[in-house]
Amino acid sequence: MYSETLVIISDYSLILKEEFVFFVESSVTTHMCPICQATLRYRDSRPRIRKKEGDLKDQLIIRRFYCKNCHSYHNELPDCLVPYKHYETEVISGVLYGNADHGCLEKLQAAFWVGQVPYAWKYSL
Ligand SMILES: [Zn+2]
Repeated sequence: MYSETLVIISDYSLILKEEFVFFVESSVTTHMCPICQATLRYRDSRPRIRKKEGDLKDQLIIRRFYCKNCHSYHNELPDCLVPYKHYETEVISGVLYGNADHGCLEKLQAAFWVGQVPYAWKYSL
């Protein structure tokens, strides 16, 4: 029986790897299985593509964990990628009006200030 769930994290850094590709660097090395509470093992990393306006898209490299106890997979997802449309809309409006206090947004804005983020990314927000 195969299943795959999401582990949402809010304590992480976004590390620019190459243009439009970011590593999600979590503050923890592993997680507890949300199904059976066993300790998860790191399995692999893979890109999660985020589409933007027009043809623009970027990728966040997220980690995938495996539970040996219940044989389930768990993707570690940063809170800025939580798959709810209204959530994403809130983030976008926050950038436009510069008043967001959302953690993920702060990470992106911090990257802007040090010139890490490609111009196109900034513009597409
Ligand atoms: Zn488990």
